[in-house]
Amino acid sequence: MRQPIQDSVWNDVMQYMRVRFEDLARGWFARLEPVSLDRGILTISAENPPQVRYLNEHCTRAFSEALQAATGRIMTVQFESRTAEPAPKPLSFETEEGELHLGGENVFRNFVTGPCNRLAHAAAMAASENPGRAYNPLFIHGGAGLGKTHLLQAVCHRVRNDNPNFRLAYLSCETFSNHFLEAVERGAMHQFRYRYRHADLLVIDDIQFLAARERSQEEFFHTFNTLHQSERQIVLSADCSPEEIPSLEDRLVSRFNSGLVASVDRPCLETRMAIVRAKAKLRCIDAPEDVVKLIAARYDANVRELTGALHKIDLLSQTQGGKIDLNIAREALGMPKPQTQVAIPDILNTVATMYNVRLSDLQGKKRTRSIAFPRHICMYLARELTPLSLEEIGGYFGGRDHSTVIHAHRLIGDRRKTDDQLDQTLDKLRLTLRNNH
Ligand code: ADP
Ligand code: MG
Repeated sequence: MRQPIQDSVWNDVMQYMRVRFEDLARGWFARLEPVSLDRGILTISAENPPQVRYLNEHCTRAFSEALQAATGRIMTVQFESRTAEPAPKPLSFETEEGELHLGGENVFRNFVTGPCNRLAHAAAMAASENPGRAYNPLFIHGGAGLGKTHLLQAVCHRVRNDNPNFRLAYLSCETFSNHFLEAVERGAMHQFRYRYRHADLLVIDDIQFLAARERSQEEFFHTFNTLHQSERQIVLSADCSPEEIPSLEDRLVSRFNSGLVASVDRPCLETRMAIVRAKAKLRCIDAPEDVVKLIAARYDANVRELTGALHKIDLLSQTQGGKIDLNIAREALGMPKPQTQVAIPDILNTVATMYNVRLSDLQGKKRTRSIAFPRHICMYLARELTPLSLEEIGGYFGGRDHSTVIHAHRLIGDRRKTDDQLDQTLDKLRLTLRNNH
């Protein structure tokens, strides 16, 4: 395209700008282009709308002066942009952005009830079957990982399922607060209020975070009142009861208490076992009862830990043939191997072989040294390696009483302190017996 003015003239203009209007000139001036000249008005193009705004605000007179100096004629300028203004970013709360996603598994069907959560569960069911009328607001509180989010999402699933036209707003307290601030910043309070004050169901998770945000609290108070007055269901969760939330305004505490406040507590062993069974079934994991019990007994504070343990066990079992048993479970959970139980018949057999005596002699009455010594060793090992009582051990040796066992135990125990060979033999026997299991 032909330049509307000669290159040399344009160069003079730019040179003039750089020298005479040093404080106005910017690096990007090098990329300005003369576009057209019409009836004494030179159109100059810039890269983008912000540059054009700058030029219009600060540089019109300077460019006119530079043009007159370069051409000797009276000229004016106008600026245009080579690119369009980018479209404004849509408001987050008018898009789905920031809304929490409903986990598919977090439905009532998958929620295991027990004494710890029965009330919260029943209230959540009632609120979702009769939104706005049963318990409003419903406030569920409890420690981490005890099912609050699960129940909140179950309400959303049920309400959405039963009332497809309902407008649901399910979000974290954090998101509510961020949306509010965005609305303030971008002058979009009207849209913000429309979004949240026209919801049929407002569900906010972890509302305790509202306490730290004064302005969001104020806005939430009004949102709450509007919805409540028009019988729209509000469901909230927090990590503690309304009055325990630090620096939450009294008027909000009393609003939260005006419906139903229900807690979810730590589940008891039975409920934990039921939860592990339910999670295993959901994921098609075949977990035997002793493993279910092991997991439930070990983790008692947080349901997430129960699920985590089940997954670890499942993962390890997949590397070892796919079958889950107690040993795999203990290994997956980093538990030490249980001390192997040694049985008396094993001790008798092992000692009889080593000392070349008959079993019947070990258990009989003979007191010759070649028999009595290995018998004492058997009693000593039985005392050391089995949980049996002295009487029970005596019973294996022809009904001898407990003092005989104590005597044998002391005898061998004392002797091994001074007799290295015996000490080594006993270590060997112990090892053999433990490894046989
Ligand atoms: P919170 O929100 O109270 O921290 P979540 O609702 O996120 O806890 O629960 C953590 C995990 O435990 C989730 O996977 C949830 O499905 C599960 N969970 C908690 N309580 C139960 C329950 N009673 N029955 C079944 N799953 C549960
Ligand atoms: Mg949660």
